[in-house]
Amino acid sequence: MKGFRILTSTLFLLTSSIALSSSISVQKVSEHLHILSGKEYGTNIGLVATENGLVLIDPMPGNNQLSALDQAIWSIYDKPISFILNTHAHSDHTGGNAHFEKQGGKLIESSFNLDELTHIKVKSHTTIDNIYYHKESNSIFVGDVFDTSWHPTFYAGGIKGFNEAIEAILNLGDDQSLIIPGHGSPAKKSSLLEFRKNTFTWINKIRELHHKGLGVGQIMIDTQVKDILEKFNINNKSPFLPHKAYKRFIERTISVINDEKSIRNAGSHGIKYLSE
Ligand SMILES: [Zn+2]
Repeated sequence: MKGFRILTSTLFLLTSSIALSSSISVQKVSEHLHILSGKEYGTNIGLVATENGLVLIDPMPGNNQLSALDQAIWSIYDKPISFILNTHAHSDHTGGNAHFEKQGGKLIESSFNLDELTHIKVKSHTTIDNIYYHKESNSIFVGDVFDTSWHPTFYAGGIKGFNEAIEAILNLGDDQSLIIPGHGSPAKKSSLLEFRKNTFTWINKIRELHHKGLGVGQIMIDTQVKDILEKFNINNKSPFLPHKAYKRFIERTISVINDEKSIRNAGSHGIKYLSE
């Protein structure tokens, strides 16, 4: 009986430690790349082992989940983080920077290239979106330029910036490259192409209705608009977006369209790819 009690308490300890670390999901992509993620933000956190030390990309699983992230990292590698990178400056990606800096990690805010990692900058989701290509795993961290769990958010770069960002990503790696979005499941380049196509379909439809004089409320109930939105709902969530987020997406798309008009009036860029 005593033995049984010891056994059950040991089991309890085991399961509680599993429960503690399981708030972070860990996906091994290759020998030198793991993707970690916390439920709250679903941000894809990259853990890359390089000759120069461990590199952590976008270390923010969610509030109160940083120590769980620590544990998950220590369970994979027996050493601290050397470098911290962010795909962009939003808090759901940068929220853990200070935590890992305190442990000796160096936050990199400028150009960063190692033998194992190539860095390029684009402008789409924010004014500076950092893209990191990891050669060994043939994976590309693209931040919120691409999202497989949400609608596109091309607000800083507009249509031109978005298209250039996608082109720049397509030029990295090859057809087999894994594209790791800021949030949602990693995907192949074919999904990124589909995402671009759907984004242009969305923008063109909103432009058409906006130019017809329809207001946001009328655009929201348009069946074609709803159908196009569903193309981004890869996980078939119901509803895909909260009402407020849906409304904001249309409003912000209209802002981008209005900006595009002023660019065109200034005569600086032909936006030929819109007819795709
Ligand atoms: Zn994000």
